[in-house]
Amino acid sequence: MSVAYESAVGSHVGMVRANNQDSGFAGDHLYLVADGMGGHAGGDVASAVAAHSVADLDVPPAGDPRATAETLRKAVLAANKEVRAQVKQRPQLAGLGTTFTGFIPVGDRLALAHIGDSRLYLLRDGRLRQITSDHTFVQRLVDAGKITEEEAKTHPRRSVLMRVLGDVEVSPEVDTEILDTRPGDVWLLCSDGLCGYVDDDDIEKIVRRRSSLQSAVDALIDKALAHGAPDNVTVVLVETIDDPGENNRIEYGPRFVGSAANAPERRDGSTSTARNRIMGRRTLRKPPKVEESHFEPHVDEYLAELMAETRRRNWRRRITWAVGVLAIIAAICGALFVGYQWTQSRYYVGTDGDTVIIYRGVQQDLLSLSLHSVEEDTEIPLSELTGFERSRIENGVGAGSLEDAREIVLRLGESDDE
Ligand code: CA
Repeated sequence: MSVAYESAVGSHVGMVRANNQDSGFAGDHLYLVADGMGGHAGGDVASAVAAHSVADLDVPPAGDPRATAETLRKAVLAANKEVRAQVKQRPQLAGLGTTFTGFIPVGDRLALAHIGDSRLYLLRDGRLRQITSDHTFVQRLVDAGKITEEEAKTHPRRSVLMRVLGDVEVSPEVDTEILDTRPGDVWLLCSDGLCGYVDDDDIEKIVRRRSSLQSAVDALIDKALAHGAPDNVTVVLVETIDDPGENNRIEYGPRFVGSAANAPERRDGSTSTARNRIMGRRTLRKPPKVEESHFEPHVDEYLAELMAETRRRNWRRRITWAVGVLAIIAAICGALFVGYQWTQSRYYVGTDGDTVIIYRGVQQDLLSLSLHSVEEDTEIPLSELTGFERSRIENGVGAGSLEDAREIVLRLGESDDE
């Protein structure tokens, strides 16, 4: 089956950051997202340099998918060199780096290269699935079963990367993969400014219900903005379609967004009223606190530190939980004790069936626990009482004290005289 590809791309600085350090690219043969980092300066440079460097591959692929994946990997390593060269020229950029996730379609296969925590998702048969695995320490903790996927989403160190392009390693490890595709597939590339704040379920819904690829890109960015968009947001959508024939294919040409675009704010000038409304909202959802993305070259040490921190946190959580349970048990026991004390300050006049008896406590039982005991047996036979008094005593007559109870007993028979 012959397939072709349609695409859309968008990027936004977000609600908090001063500049857009993300770069995105969609051409006719190459699609990518790069998320730059490096403190106050450099992140935008790193992602733009990487995007422009690799964008040279936006030409019909020359080899089979495997060869193309290798070509792409080499281009990413070459981009790494260019990023490092920037630091040599401008030492104040030391520490800059960028993620890279991108692919080149070769017929109905995709050649993918990936490093960092930008992601590739696939929407197939209406279901969204994450294809790439983040090169983060937190992902390592998930893989090792130390924390759950859910905990990873809010982990304070979720932005710390194990691998990136930058001035750390000469030859960083870049993952490559060959993926099958068929008409109807929608491929989503994004920076963590999207997937870090918008649930996979919401992403799935937006892409599934799209009226067009571009409207879905805009809606995804709007969703991140509605969540407070503390980070830059970049999205590329690529749909695999039945090949309409060479003359009917859309020619897009190269489209850069974010830092890699010469005028990164250009798209904002023509934003929709919906987006303006979202951005003008006073009460946006408060974004979760996240530390600035950075990478840790000392993988083993950092991972050991993180493992120890996770153990300490789990331990603290267990202690807090145990103390909470103990406090609840103590509160229940205390309430029961006070209640029992109160019942034992009460008296009532009742009967054992034969004689009138003063009981201490209350008539009710608590489950199998009796809350009363014989205080005094008056030895007054029940049979000597009038029918009315007898039924009163059989029902039990409450008294606040032993004296009150004795008073009730003394008065028995008085009604007899009336
Ligand atoms: Ca980011």
